[in-house]
Amino acid sequence: ALKISNMQKSFGDLEVLKGVSLAVSPGEVLAVLGPSGSGKSTLLRCATFLDQMDSGEVSYFGEVALAKENGVKTSKGDEKRFRHDFGLVFQNFNLFPHWTVMRNLIDAPVKVQKRDASEVREEAQGLLARMNLADKGESYPSELSGGQKQRVAIARALALHPKMLFFDEPTSALDPELTGEILAIIRSLAEEKMTMVIVTHEMEFAAGVADRAVFMDGGRVLEEGPADELIHHPTQERTKQFLNKLR
Ligand code: ATP
Ligand code: MG
Repeated sequence: ALKISNMQKSFGDLEVLKGVSLAVSPGEVLAVLGPSGSGKSTLLRCATFLDQMDSGEVSYFGEVALAKENGVKTSKGDEKRFRHDFGLVFQNFNLFPHWTVMRNLIDAPVKVQKRDASEVREEAQGLLARMNLADKGESYPSELSGGQKQRVAIARALALHPKMLFFDEPTSALDPELTGEILAIIRSLAEEKMTMVIVTHEMEFAAGVADRAVFMDGGRVLEEGPADELIHHPTQERTKQFLNKLR
């Protein structure tokens, strides 16, 4: 579904990604683990074209979406076309504050994807019901709790019918009791075989839900393997250290 090859990214003199490669198969869930500053968010931002990588190649569903060498594009791939393939759920929700929940959900499917408005609205109502927010369509984001906002953000991503989803620490801004409900939604998406890349510090969740995991440190993937295996029986010293600190 996604293939990243030798991705490199610097901010000025700071080399943040030093040649990261990874692949995610359709229906697979990949957990991206690693300490603060290891480059996890930068990896997701470059993979989803929110940030410009310096070198590397990104493919979605077998097609090169973007290839660069020393900051120069080397592919004819049209990034814009690939933006429809994935949905993004990041930690700070990014809902439009002056729009109702319903408008946040239906705006892009109707305006960008040109789908039938009444059909989109009906589907959005179903997504809200699934997120336990059936009665919140006419509320504004400021009237919702953090957990509710994050569930709207997930519904909004799903309303665009993505082929895969990226999550960047979807629960890190939430109280522990709200974290569980978000993780349950992600778990149910995994059961439906949604392809997902999830940056998270929730290790037991990752071990239970992700098929594979990568451990990043200092802009590189240091260890990679079945999620449960990597989290409970890491082989690299650095991975052990990191996981021990979280216990
Ligand atoms: P965390 O777990 O804290 O979210 P992370 O693994 O997501 O960390 P990144 O956000 O990818 O880490 O940041 C990696 C490094 O790149 C950090 O040293 C950070 O300060 C730096 N960095 C990230 N974005 C920028 C930017 N726009 N300008 C300059 N430096 C940046
Ligand atoms: Mg981050």
